[in-house]
Amino acid sequence: MIEFHSVSKRYGALQVIHDVSATVEKGTTIVLCGPSGSGKSTLVRTVNRLEPIQSGRITVAGRDIHEKSVDVNTLRSGIGFVFQQFNLFPHLTVVDNVMLPLRRLRGQSRRQALPTAMLMLERVGLADRAQSLPADISGGQAQRVAIARSLILKPEILILDEPTSALDPEMVGEVLKLLRELSAGGITLMCVTHEMGFAREVADRIWFLKSGRLTFDASPDLFFSQEAHPDVRGFLSSIH
Ligand code: ADP
Ligand code: MG
Repeated sequence: MIEFHSVSKRYGALQVIHDVSATVEKGTTIVLCGPSGSGKSTLVRTVNRLEPIQSGRITVAGRDIHEKSVDVNTLRSGIGFVFQQFNLFPHLTVVDNVMLPLRRLRGQSRRQALPTAMLMLERVGLADRAQSLPADISGGQAQRVAIARSLILKPEILILDEPTSALDPEMVGEVLKLLRELSAGGITLMCVTHEMGFAREVADRIWFLKSGRLTFDASPDLFFSQEAHPDVRGFLSSIH
């Protein structure tokens, strides 16, 4: 579903992604981890062209995303993206936040978009908060609203960049539970997270980035074993 072919990226003179090659199979869940500053956010942002690359190639569903004929809005409609800070619009209700992509990108009226938005809210267990403002719900609920919004255009791919890092500990579980359900539901999921319990249970592959290099790409069994790359073992002991 997503292929990175020798992808490299610089910010000016600073090279932050070095020759990354890897594949995300359709319907699988990838967890991406690694030290702070290793390039995780940059790498996931290249997939929907939020970050340009200097060399290499990225394909989504077999198509080179940098081809001239690829429309960036169409590309982004097929890839849900969720950030650490939920990025909800504070002046809009929960349900109005969720329906925004339908209104902006599909030209639907509020009335047309409402039933779909309510269905999405039901799916994330928040139909009863439809009329609340973001300030009046918890962080865990806000992140679930952001996930509902990211799914409303029915993307085949969902990318999340540290979706639980800004949450109070007691709210992490409800977001991970939703991600577990989505993963089981067959969407292709790429999640930057340091929630290693989640990674062990849900990921098909775990990727480890260090200084912009993909130094390890393994099944959870191998990733958490003594046979893992020494950098991985060092990283795992540093976060526990
Ligand atoms: P991570 O998500 O793993 O913490 P990032 O992808 O955010 O890492 O950052 C990788 C490297 O790129 C870091 O050295 C960071 O300082 C640098 N970086 C990130 N964004 C920019 C930017 N917009 N301009 C310059 N350097 C950046
Ligand atoms: Mg990051």
